[in-house]
Amino acid sequence: MSKLQTKGLYKNYFEGGLTTEVLKDINLDIDEGEFVLITGPSGSGKTTLMNCISGLESVTAGEVLLDGLDFSKFSKKQMAELRKNKIGFVFQAYNLLPNLTLFENIQIASVIAGKNDTNRINELLTKFNLAEFKKHFPNQVSGGMQQRTAIVRALINDPQIIFADEPTGNLDSKSTLEVMENFKFLHDEYKKTIIMVTHSLDNLKYATRHIQIIDGKVVLDEKINA
Ligand code: ADP
Ligand code: MG
Repeated sequence: MSKLQTKGLYKNYFEGGLTTEVLKDINLDIDEGEFVLITGPSGSGKTTLMNCISGLESVTAGEVLLDGLDFSKFSKKQMAELRKNKIGFVFQAYNLLPNLTLFENIQIASVIAGKNDTNRINELLTKFNLAEFKKHFPNQVSGGMQQRTAIVRALINDPQIIFADEPTGNLDSKSTLEVMENFKFLHDEYKKTIIMVTHSLDNLKYATRHIQIIDGKVVLDEKINA
C-alpha cells in the first residue's frame, strides 16, 4: 500500500527577484515498510525534498500524499498533529537539548504529544542500549549515542514514517555502523517506513530502495537488496 506519494512536485525558492527551481517534477510512490535511501550530489535538492515530503516546507506545485491525503491542504493544526504523531525526524546535528538528560530529551517529545509514557521511554532506552546513560547530558556521551537518543526520540510516539537527513553525516565509521544498524532494527523489528538522505553509498546495503537525485530531478529509482 502507498504510504507516501508525490505527484508533479515542484519547489522553487524566490530570493532577491531571482527564482531558483530546486525540485522539478518529482513523482514518487513509497510503500509502507520501505527503507528508502536518497543520494545525490551536494546541492541537488535532497534536503529540500525531505522537507517538502515531511511537511516542514510548503511545495510550489504538485501534491504530497500521506496515506492518500494531500497534506499541502492541511491546516496548521492538522500539520502539528501529523508531526507529533505520524512522523519522526532524525537530523544530522542530533538536535538534542543540551540542558536536558538523554531521558528528558526523549520525554519532552512524549509530553508534547500529550502522553509522557515513561514506560515506553525506558523500554526503548533498553532496546537501544542507552539505559545506563539515561541520566547523562548530551555532551557527556559520544556522537553515536546522541544520535541513538535522537532515534529513540523519533520513535517515541510510534510514528509511521521516520525521516532522516544525513543522520550519519557527523559520525565516525564505527558510530555510523551502529546508527545504521539501529535504523535497520527500526525497519526490521518495528516495521517502520524509513526515508533517509545519505552521502555514503556504503549505507545502501541496509535499504530496500535507492532514489538518486541530480539537479532536482529523480535520475534513478530502484528496489535493492530484494
Ligand atoms: P542538498 O541537501 O542535496 O545538498 P538542498 O536541498 O539543501 O541540497 O539545496 C538545493 C538547492 O536549493 C541549493 O542550490 C540551495 O542553495 C538551494 N536552497 C536550499 N534552501 C534554500 C532557501 N531556503 N532559499 C534559497 N535557496 C535554497
Ligand atoms: Mg542536504
